[in-house]
Parts: sequence; C-alpha cells; structure tokens
Amino acid sequence: MTETVATQGISGVEIVLSEVTKRYPGQNDPAVDRVSMTIPAGEIVVLVGPSGCGKTTTMRMINRLIEPSSGAISIGGREILDMNPDTLRRGIGYSIQQAGLFPHMTVARNVATVPGLIGWDRSRIAARVDEMLALVGLDPDTFRNRFPRQLSGGQQQRVGVARALAADPPVLLMDEPFGAVDPITRGLLQDELLRLQAELRKTIVFVTHDFNEAVKLGDRIAVLGNQSRILQYDTPAAVLAEPADETVAGFVGADAGLKQLTLTRVREVPRGECAVARESEAVEAFRKAIGDSGREWGLVLDDQGRPLRWVTLAQLAQADSLRAAGTAVGGTVSLDSTLQGALETLLAESNANAVVTGRRGEYVGLITIDTLVAHLSRMRSAHAHSDSGGDGGQ
Ligand code: ADP
Ligand code: MG
Repeated sequence: MTETVATQGISGVEIVLSEVTKRYPGQNDPAVDRVSMTIPAGEIVVLVGPSGCGKTTTMRMINRLIEPSSGAISIGGREILDMNPDTLRRGIGYSIQQAGLFPHMTVARNVATVPGLIGWDRSRIAARVDEMLALVGLDPDTFRNRFPRQLSGGQQQRVGVARALAADPPVLLMDEPFGAVDPITRGLLQDELLRLQAELRKTIVFVTHDFNEAVKLGDRIAVLGNQSRILQYDTPAAVLAEPADETVAGFVGADAGLKQLTLTRVREVPRGECAVARESEAVEAFRKAIGDSGREWGLVLDDQGRPLRWVTLAQLAQADSLRAAGTAVGGTVSLDSTLQGALETLLAESNANAVVTGRRGEYVGLITIDTLVAHLSRMRSAHAHSDSGGDGGQ
C-alpha cells in the first residue's frame, strides 16, 4: 500500500514509542520499562492489562502529563520532547473516567475549553459546541447550559468525548473513559465511539482493564503485563485465536469462542425469517402463514413494518384481531450490531430469536441461536485449518 492510499480519509497520525521508560521518584522498579510500539494512523489501539500494570502512565507520557524518564515518543513524525507541552496537549484530545468535567462550568464551556485556549472567535466556538454535542448524541438546546451535576453518568461521558474532540485533534487519548457507567450505557457509548471513528478516523489510544471492551473497540490490542511489558500486540481476532502465552490466554479466558461473537456484525451472517403480518391484517390469514412457515409463532408489525409483538398459534386461536394479540418484542438489533449483542437480545426472548431491524426500524429478519452456533463452528474450523497450515479444503 502506498502512503497516499493508506492515508486517504484518515485524520489521525502515527504515534511511535521507542524504549519509553518511567521511573517515579523513590521507586526501585520503573513503572513503565522500555516500551516500544507503533500506533498506526487512524486506528484504535487499546492498551489492556491489569490494574497497576502501567497503562495510565504509558498513556500520559504521550501528552506529557507525565514526563518520560528516558526514551522517545513521536507523533506524526515530530518528537514530543522537542515541543512545548501546552501546545502538544492542545493537539491531543484527552478523555478520562468520570469524564473529568469542570464542575463549575456549563456543558458548553467545558466543550469550548480547548477551542477557547487556541483563540477561536466566539461564534465559531458556539457553532462548534453545538456540532460536537449533536455528534455525541446530546441535543444542544437541552444540554448546553446544564452543569455536569445535572447530567447522568453516560451523558457526562458523552460531554467528555465532545470536549476531547472539540478542537479536531488528530490524536485522542482515552483512559478507561467508560469505566464508571453501567454496562448497558457502556455498550451504547462503545457503539457510538465506533460509529464516530468510522467517520473521523482519528488515532485513538484507548486504555482499559476490560478485555471484552478491548476486543470490541480495538483495531489492534496491546496486552500489557507488569511495567507495561507488551505480551502481545495484534488484531483482536489474532489474539483470541492464538494467545501469545499463558498470561494472555488467561485474559482471553475460557469463553474465547463467545468473545469471537463481538468480532462479527449482524449484516455479515445469513438472517432467518418468520411469518409476519401488519396489525391491520386478518387473524385467519396470519394463522395460515405461520402454519406454512413451519413454526409455531410469527411477528406482528406496525403499518411502517416495525416489529411490535410475537404471537403464537395458541394466542391466535383466542384472538379476533392482530391489534392486541401476542407478547411485546423485548429488544431488537441493527445490521451493525455485533453477534454478541444479538446473543444478549435473543437470550431475553422466550423463542430465542433476535429481531433485526433496518435503518428506519423496519423488520429485516431474525438472528436465531442456530445462526450463532453455525457461525462459531465456522470460525473454529477456519482456525483449525490455519493452525495445521490447512489446504483450505472443507
Ligand atoms: P494502571 O493505569 O495500569 O492501573 P498506573 O500507570 O496508574 O497503572 O501505575 C503503574 C504503577 O506506577 C503502579 O504500581 C502505581 O502504583 C505506580 N504509580 C503511578 N503513579 C505514581 C506516582 N505518581 N508516584 C509513584 N508511583 C506511581
Ligand atoms: Mg490507570
């Protein structure tokens, strides 16, 4: 790949760490010991490892919130130790756990921090604040004048991301940014980050101790041991398939197969179908359609084709219309959801199916448990082939 092709659409820049070491005063062993790694432009690289292994120290040396004791770091080909630290930091977005918002400033002023420092004029800043809030899914009119304490944890994290992105820096450092929110909100924030990144193509260094989060978000993940020693640095698929050593294998865990579900999107696997009917349609016709489908149940849709209720043949036998019959669909997944998300959704449904919806929320098919089982066994056999230098014959 030539340089021009590789950098098309990418606003991020490469970061190179060479033999970077940090010794805190009064400590015998360095907190970070001679770490070398190249973080490619436009990728999300996740540093994952146990608490205390040196993730935060490594990350904060990149924006010089912590000064390296030795070694070199370059960003976009420029040595950071040759730069003025304030100038350096204004070119790097930084987002941390609990968002780190200034409590006495409104959401708008928080987001405006760096644009203000670098001298943008008022109207440009105001426009940018609204643009960033909308980008992270917060209505500007509702949120711009609130204070951080008037926001939920998830909303605070969104503001934190908006603030980190406000001056359009090529590099974003995120230190356990979603660590303090509940699991459902965390999942949503992760999905949003991936959606944003598909457009922005920044270079993002993301720190977490949560291996599942690393697998979900990383283009590459660096699994770190003590003193930030790199145990393995590769794509999530490669780390899951072939952990470099026992320690990494321990991180990957016994459920490596299930984690592989986070690597595949719903749109990449075949979808199942069932009988469907609009609410306005006749009960009898739907009963026949369900019978023809070979299943015991079907799905009732609204007039826009959006899923409303599961209905069984037994329920239909009692019903005069489709308007009330059946049990509400619990949740849906989109074509961009991961198979892990589909698994969680289908486990909550009594018939073990997840409804897939399209852009406008309309029904486009089902993910069944059989789809997931077939997918996992395909991944396993593909891996067995690559292990044995397989001939590709199936
Ligand atoms: P992580 O982010 O992976 O939890 P840190 O980078 O925060 O790890 O810490 C790495 C090691 O450095 C830990 O042993 C920690 O106790 C130590 N450490 C962190 N900050 C300081 C400091 N300011 N002074 C002395 N030791 C520190
Ligand atoms: Mg830390």
